Amino acid sequence: MPLWRLVAPRHRAAGAYRLSPSVLGAWGIEALMLDLDNTLVAWNETIPPPQVRAWVEDLHQARIPACVVSNNLTYRVRAVAELLALPFAHGRFKPSAAKLRRALAVMGTAPERTAMVGDQLFTDVLAGNRLGVPTVLVAPLDPHESFRIRMVRALERRVLAALVKRGLAPAAPEV
Ligand SMILES: [Mg+2]
Repeated sequence: MPLWRLVAPRHRAAGAYRLSPSVLGAWGIEALMLDLDNTLVAWNETIPPPQVRAWVEDLHQARIPACVVSNNLTYRVRAVAELLALPFAHGRFKPSAAKLRRALAVMGTAPERTAMVGDQLFTDVLAGNRLGVPTVLVAPLDPHESFRIRMVRALERRVLAALVKRGLAPAAPEV
């Protein structure tokens, strides 16, 4: 697989909370692996915003399995996951696919219908594509990010623009 394709998201959304059960159904997605930082909570926060809490409640109601896969410290991941009543997977750092494999095992869902959802191309989308699962790139919850992340964002924007130009990624958030 050309390197390009390894960071190409299959779908794009303005936020994880936009992935309603009906959107997921239309995309053929039955379960979710969820990044933590800037996908479920803003940086350094442990309380997800109301729209995220309402969305996860909708997922529970619709019996759509979801599992948190984060590179952040375990106690923080656990705190957020417990608040949202979601399981979380331990394992090696993304973009290693090991943690995602554990998440699949925890949920017992089919890889081709279990999407990796996150806000970063070089960790979340790359890990998902390495495992061969559908990927959803979401806009970050909070645009106020560290200098290091802003540097990564600049590179992400250029790579994403190149992917869009080649027809390998959606040009804009679909929902
Ligand atoms: Mg993130």
